[in-house]
Amino acid sequence: MYDIAVIGAGINGCSVAYEFLQEDKRVLVLDKEGVASGGSGAAGAFISPKFSKAGELKAIIEDAFIYSMEYYEKHFAEHFKKAQLLHIAKDADEEETLRIFKEKTTLPLKEAKESLKAKLTQSALQRESVSLEAGIVDAQKMCEAMIEGAKFIRQKVENIVFEDGYWLIDDTYAAKELVLATGAYKTLLNESYIELRGVWGHRIDVQTSTQNPYSIHQFVSISPSDGNRLAIGATHNVHYHPQTSREPYNVEEGRRELLEKASRTINLSDVEIVKDYTGLRSGSFDYMPLVGPLVLSRETLACCEKNIRVKKPDFQEFLYYPQLSMINGSGGYGFVLAPYLARILKEHILSAKEISERIIPARFFARWAKRRS
Ligand SMILES: Cc1cc2nc3c(=O)[nH]c(=O)nc-3n(C[C@H](O)[C@H](O)[C@H](O)COP(=O)(O)OP(=O)(O)OC[C@H]3O[C@@H](n4cnc5c(N)ncnc54)[C@H](O)[C@@H]3O)c2cc1C
Repeated sequence: MYDIAVIGAGINGCSVAYEFLQEDKRVLVLDKEGVASGGSGAAGAFISPKFSKAGELKAIIEDAFIYSMEYYEKHFAEHFKKAQLLHIAKDADEEETLRIFKEKTTLPLKEAKESLKAKLTQSALQRESVSLEAGIVDAQKMCEAMIEGAKFIRQKVENIVFEDGYWLIDDTYAAKELVLATGAYKTLLNESYIELRGVWGHRIDVQTSTQNPYSIHQFVSISPSDGNRLAIGATHNVHYHPQTSREPYNVEEGRRELLEKASRTINLSDVEIVKDYTGLRSGSFDYMPLVGPLVLSRETLACCEKNIRVKKPDFQEFLYYPQLSMINGSGGYGFVLAPYLARILKEHILSAKEISERIIPARFFARWAKRRS
């Protein structure tokens, strides 16, 4: 019997496992394909804030950015690298956004050095940009390091049942608590209010004679050089989905697009592609992450109809699955958000600390229930 089982060994599941390992809990992690095999394995894994004007998503990502930069450096320095980030506006609208960001931010900003400017294209140099200290995670090694001390099983979980006070997973493993960290893949619960969108991404590692010491983000993300290699990636393909698309993903076309977009920003010489990574990132319909317990929709509809219909339902009155939570929907900021959200989830599970209504999955239940009545 485990204290906690986590389904999904991406950055969200592994961050949760790490939190519980720190509390000396017996932790089981299951993944159908391996550690960091989903969106997390494809990610460039840049740790950066959101460069927008304002809003709750910007605020939570900024808190998580500050938290994660310290966290990765403190606990996993060998798989984390600090690097100055240069974010360049794509168009005039984004230039305006960056100007407002720079005016309002409390994050310490930096100047882009002349040595970097010499490598940028003329059009990139003419655009508004913002630079600050940020970081990059080695996605695979980070996830593996986080679950050291947990039992890892490679298995596609098909069935979860709550019985006699614990969760039984595929009739084989028992755990007191269960956390679903399954990313953009099919959810294990038949609850229609949990809808996540998968956005396909592609990253290439390239060999190049150009040395680049910065993280550069404009149309795509470009990593700093590691020896003579650097990574170029983006998640913006909303048309392809591995589970629903008829045609296979066109890797050649994806490569061409990434290189063409990178070339609008930086002059790279002698480029040779050495590796491709592809995967889905999952986002929620209001772009905020989903963290916390899950509402039993049928039972709650039956018991609490009146509370659901009011303008601001009392989430505490809803009925929840026992000892079960989810962590998901972090969009393009999974590596920024995961450590921060995992701590929130741990404090909720172990100390009953309340989770903000802006990230709790119950917000989607309330909206879904209103729509169907
Ligand atoms: C190309 C690309 C670039 C990105 N760049 C960045 C970036 O620079 N910075 C950043 O912060 N984020 C980035 N992201 C987003 C980030 O990768 C995601 O937000 C993050 O990976 C989400 O992590 P996750 O753990 O929720 O999901 P995933 O990593 O997808 O993990 C879910 C896991 O669950 C497993 N699973 C699902 N169902 C089952 C089942 N039934 N049984 C067993 N296992 C199951 C899957 O195999 C998978 O390994 C990028 C994403 C992509 C694709």
